[in-house]
Amino acid sequence: MSSFNCLFCNQSASLYSKLPPNQFEGVTFHYYQCTKCKLIQIDPIPSPELLSKMYHSESYHEVELAEILPLDYVLPGLRFTYQKQITEIPNITQGPNLDFGCGDGHFIRSMAQHQIPFDGVEFNPETIEKLASLLPSSNFSTVADFLANPKTYRVIRMSNVLEHFTNPKKELGAIIDKLESGGYLVIEGPIEMNWSWTNWLKWGYLKLRKKLRSSYSTSHAPTHTIYSNRQNQLDFFRQFPLEITTFEVREGFWPFAEKWKDCKSIRSILIYFFCSLGKRTMLSKNYGNVFLLKAKKL
Ligand SMILES: [Zn+2]
Repeated sequence: MSSFNCLFCNQSASLYSKLPPNQFEGVTFHYYQCTKCKLIQIDPIPSPELLSKMYHSESYHEVELAEILPLDYVLPGLRFTYQKQITEIPNITQGPNLDFGCGDGHFIRSMAQHQIPFDGVEFNPETIEKLASLLPSSNFSTVADFLANPKTYRVIRMSNVLEHFTNPKKELGAIIDKLESGGYLVIEGPIEMNWSWTNWLKWGYLKLRKKLRSSYSTSHAPTHTIYSNRQNQLDFFRQFPLEITTFEVREGFWPFAEKWKDCKSIRSILIYFFCSLGKRTMLSKNYGNVFLLKAKKL
């Protein structure tokens, strides 16, 4: 496809040729950039069959009862603590609350320990079955069952889910429809095209490989369909009937080592120091590669 419309703002997008294409299951995925908001998205959007293959419970979310940690603990790969996500949200202990894309149910179990009830939604029916038997105090449903149910929620939380959506405007719109008026949406996720040394290193490596060999391609499951920056991510949320109360940007080192002690080679040590230097010398509150949104439904 030579051009198509942006998944955030509906303007035309054109081929972003700096990045190498990605091969997966016999399909070649290219990166496109919106001519207006600069969102990068993949083309083609993965088919329902491919999505089902990518998110099969055995290969994606392993469901087991992991250790429950204090609410102010920073989970590996994440930047915002559970405490930070739920603070300043009125009446959260009353519910009903929902964790959309609840994965292995870690957040739901942590909340239950603090008498904050959360239900869960996951993509895969097998994952739902396992979660329901492991965590009987919460209700779990598939995306299809959630959409078909007229129940509304006081709080809906999504952690690292939006970037997996194949039609984010439609899918987030349907989720906001399930929020009570005056209810809260809490979303954390990556802004992989924002100014950050970690992002610069990650994409710079791929751009360099492509420059050195034009036929170079990557091969990984295309689980992320969109790659946003701070501005287009914020503008995307402004399209919905929401009053944005928090939009914070921070820096995480994913996919590189988050801690000094996790570095296993000279290369990972050098990357760690490079990313740490970027984080420590950041001059702008807009610097970073992850965001946290809290918004009240109008
Ligand atoms: Zn756009």
